[in-house]
Amino acid sequence: MGPQLIAGNWKMNCLSADGRELAAELRRLVEAGDSPDCAWLVCPPAPLLVPVGEVLAGSAIALGGQDCHTAESGAHTGDVSAAMLADVGCSHVIVGHSERRSDHGEEDATVRAKAEAACAAGLVPIVCVGETQAERQAGRTLAVVEQQVRGSVPGEGGFVLAYEPVWAIGTGLTPTPEDVARAHGHIHAVLTEIVGEARAEATNILYGGSVKPDNAAELLAVPRVGGALVGGASLKAEGFWQIGCQAKAN
Ligand code: PEP
Repeated sequence: MGPQLIAGNWKMNCLSADGRELAAELRRLVEAGDSPDCAWLVCPPAPLLVPVGEVLAGSAIALGGQDCHTAESGAHTGDVSAAMLADVGCSHVIVGHSERRSDHGEEDATVRAKAEAACAAGLVPIVCVGETQAERQAGRTLAVVEQQVRGSVPGEGGFVLAYEPVWAIGTGLTPTPEDVARAHGHIHAVLTEIVGEARAEATNILYGGSVKPDNAAELLAVPRVGGALVGGASLKAEGFWQIGCQAKAN
C-alpha cells in the first residue's frame, strides 16, 4: 500500500465561506510544519468542490467527491457523474458510505457500479464497508464485511477500501485495535482472493468511525490500517491535521 491516506469526509456541512476557510487553514498547517508521512484528501459537498479546489490548488491536499452516479451522463436529476468530479479536480470519490447505503438504499451492486464508473473516469474510488451494531452483536462482523467487499469492489482499476463499522460512525465509539486488526486482516485476505495478491497489497484499507486526535495514533498503528476516513473531526483543521501527524511511515 502507499503512504497512509488521511481523508476527511465533510458530509453535508459548510457553506462556501466556511469551506474555503477550513481548507485554507488545513493547507497552512500542512505546509508550515514538518510534513507528516501521509497523503491528505478532503471530500467536501459537491457545491463546494470548486471553491475548495481553488484554495487547495497546487497543494499536497487532494480533493474528492462524496458520491457519484453509475452513469456517465443523462437524465439523473440531482446526481453528479464521476467525470464531473474529475473535471473539477477530484482525484478520489467515496462510494457506498453507510449513510448512502441507509439513506438511499444503495446495495453492493450499485456501489460496485459506482466504483467502476469512478475508475473509468480516472478517479480512485474509496469503497466503504462495515457492519451494523445488530450484526456485530450477532457475531457476524467478518461475514457481513466479507460479503460487502466481494460485492462492492471494482473489477478493474485501483481503489481504496474503508472499513467503517456503522455503529462507530459519529458516535464516539470505536472498536478495539484487536477488532480493527481482525477486520482489516480479513478484508486483506478476501481482497487477495478476489483481486490477486499484487492488487490487494497495493490497496490502502482505511479505518473510519469516530477517529479523533486522541485515538488516531492507536488506530493508525494497527497492522494493515492504510489510513483513516474521518467525518466529524475533519471539520476542524487543527484536529484533522493532528490526526494526519500520527500517520505511521510505511
Ligand atoms: C464518516 O463519515 O465516514 C465517519 C467516519 O464519520 P465520524 O468520523 O464522524 O465517525
